[in-house]
Amino acid sequence: MANQDLLLVFDETVTRAGVDGWIRHLESAGAPTQMYRLGTSFVLPVSDVDAIQEAGSDLPAPTRQVPRGSDAWLGRRELRPTGTAVSLGPTTIGDGSVAVLAGPCAVETPEQMMATAAVVAKHGAVGLRGGVFKPRTSPHSFQGLQWDGLDLLVEARERTGLPFVTEVIEPEHVKRLAEVVDGFQIGARNMQNFALLTAVGQSGLPVVLKRGFGCTVEETLAAGEYLLLEGNDQVVLCERGIRTFEPSARFTLDLTAVALWKQRTHLPVMVDPSHSGGRPELVEPLSLAAIGAGADALLIDVHVEPQQALCDGNQALSPEQFAGLMGRLAPAAAGLGRHMGGGTSVRECSPT
Ligand code: PEP
Ligand code: MN
Repeated sequence: MANQDLLLVFDETVTRAGVDGWIRHLESAGAPTQMYRLGTSFVLPVSDVDAIQEAGSDLPAPTRQVPRGSDAWLGRRELRPTGTAVSLGPTTIGDGSVAVLAGPCAVETPEQMMATAAVVAKHGAVGLRGGVFKPRTSPHSFQGLQWDGLDLLVEARERTGLPFVTEVIEPEHVKRLAEVVDGFQIGARNMQNFALLTAVGQSGLPVVLKRGFGCTVEETLAAGEYLLLEGNDQVVLCERGIRTFEPSARFTLDLTAVALWKQRTHLPVMVDPSHSGGRPELVEPLSLAAIGAGADALLIDVHVEPQQALCDGNQALSPEQFAGLMGRLAPAAAGLGRHMGGGTSVRECSPT
């Protein structure tokens, strides 16, 4: 049989020596392979299924044998049927709970960032968002505070104990950002920036990978595969709306993608109802629908003064709207057998 039809998965109970034994056996059987890491597991693609049967009894049994299927095979659900839990500082995404990450689209001023962080922490967010490098459609729009804004995110983390994600737009920025951020965001416009994906994958830090608004479900999985290939399994896929013929909302939230990703990949799935709907009044219905479709997390724009925002103020929730939303999401999640959370509750998290 040809074309690497099977994946042998060895969990952490199997030693590296055992896996090396398999690699030597497959090579001598004329089916050379390469080893990949998925967290603490080892994965060997095998092109010749007969070579597996010919293995001696001294070799450890694989934990699982999985058909390779699509190109994005390191992300296939079958490799890790229980799903991947992503650790963003003290917060866990993908543990069955619904994690809300919230904050301004862009970090603007100390007052705006600290006040917004305090509000979202008070009402149950388990992570902060805030862009300091903003990829804007127009070069005349506010481009973010850049490196200066990073200090404000760090201060907001110190004050609230909440970890933060922020967007990275340049591979050259990854190392410096990695010294302070809890997690990266790769924006829709950069989902297929393969050099950026590889650099972020190498950082080993958690990544929120936003779906390009012109990219398919499978293309998004393939983009995630670039991160996984670097040995980084801390990847959250984020549906943030796609461009369709429908002009009534900023983008069309594709809930089918959420359901499909939950079935096809072990990676947790996030939904951004703010950028997809583009209006505050759509955030709640889209959030409820996202939880119903199986989303593990929500990414929500909140601003203490939405009318004054330098970026995407017309979609940000006010503090009152965010408080109301969080109050109504909890019973809805409970009705679906879920709970709001994101793993451990908020605790002091020391700045790195
Ligand atoms: C954002 O979350 O701030 C953002 C720019 O989103 P997207 O990349 O999905 O447009
Ligand atoms: Mn935005």
